[in-house]
Amino acid sequence: MDTDPAAKPQPYGCLYCATAASFRGETARMPKTCPTKTHLAVVHDPAPYLEPDRHAMMVAADSTPFTEERVLRNRVEELVVFAKARGIEKIGIAFCVSLIKEAQQLGKLLKREGIEAELVCCRVGAIDYSEIDLPKANPDKFAAICNPVAQAKMLNEAKVDLVAQVGLCIGHDLILQEECDAPVTTLVVKDRALDHHPVRALRPTPSATPTETPC
Ligand code: SF4
Repeated sequence: MDTDPAAKPQPYGCLYCATAASFRGETARMPKTCPTKTHLAVVHDPAPYLEPDRHAMMVAADSTPFTEERVLRNRVEELVVFAKARGIEKIGIAFCVSLIKEAQQLGKLLKREGIEAELVCCRVGAIDYSEIDLPKANPDKFAAICNPVAQAKMLNEAKVDLVAQVGLCIGHDLILQEECDAPVTTLVVKDRALDHHPVRALRPTPSATPTETPC
C-alpha cells in the first residue's frame, strides 16, 4: 500500500476486474490492484458494523431480501420488511408527479401494513419556472418547477422516520437528500427512456441475463 500522502492515488482495480473474487474471499484470484489487497487496513475493518445501531441496521438489511421460505422479495416488499425491522412508524414519500398513481398505491400499501405514510408531490408550491429564472418551452404558459426543498420541508414537518423517494429527477433527488431530516432511500430511480430501469442501459441487450453477484 502506498503511504506517501503526496503520491497520486492509483485507480482501484474494480473497473476492470474479471473475478469479483472478494465476494468469496479468494485472495489468489483478486487482481493486484484490488482494494482488498492494496488497502487492506481500510477496507477489511469490521469495527464500523459492530456499533449497536449500525449493527442493527445491518441485521435488518440482511433479513429483507428473502422470506422465511427463501422466496425473493421485491423492493417494495423489502421496504415494508425493513421498516418493520427498524421500528419505523412513518414513511414520507417524495414522489414525481408522473408517478402519482404508483406513489399513492405505495402509501395505501404501507398503511395496510400498519405504517403511516405521508406523501408530497414534486410540484408542491406551484412555483413557475420564471420565478427561479429557468427557461420554459412555452414562455406564456405556467409551468411548475420540481420543488424538492419544499418536499423535504413538508416531510420534516410531518416528522417522518424515513423518506422513500419515488422517481425524482437526478439533481432534485440530491437536493431532497440535503434537506431531509430523516434518512432517504430510493425506491424508484427516474429513467424516462427506460421506464425507470436504468440498469438496462448497462447491459448488452435489454433482455440480457443479469450479471450481478447473487448476494
Ligand atoms: S475482487 Fe472485488 S474488490 Fe477486488 S478488484 Fe475485483 S471487484 Fe474490486
